[in-house]
Amino acid sequence: MADCLFCGIAAGEIPATIVSANPRTVAFRDINPQAPVHVLVIPRAHHPNLAELAAVDGALLSDLVAHARDVALAEGITDSGYRIVFNTGPEAGQTVGHVHAHVLGGRPMSWPPG
Ligand code: 5GP
Ligand code: ZN
Repeated sequence: MADCLFCGIAAGEIPATIVSANPRTVAFRDINPQAPVHVLVIPRAHHPNLAELAAVDGALLSDLVAHARDVALAEGITDSGYRIVFNTGPEAGQTVGHVHAHVLGGRPMSWPPG
């Protein structure tokens, strides 16, 4: 989609620190990390948010979560624990309208979120 930041990163048109990539999904480091490990995982295809992706392509959602799991393994946070977060909508803090999984770990995290 034109003018979408994460479509641009997926296409290699906008620079990012790529962690791993495959034909359907891309993982890259968040530019403003909130934890020692903070990686974003996106589908290459443009979908606005988690709910809309789930509604039209459950297989791609499954691929996205599997990639997030692989990132956690590669970053060494599987045993210590990690969060996969999909902010959806303005009150949840979604600022980029291309679905993305935040993979967060490497430090203790409080619950509930602020
Ligand atoms: P959201 O707030 O939509 O859940 O998450 C968007 C995330 O994208 C934020 O954590 C923000 O730091 C990150 N972000 C915004 N612009 C860029 C960018 O140009 N490059 C990278 N790598 N991350 C970005
Ligand atoms: Zn997009």
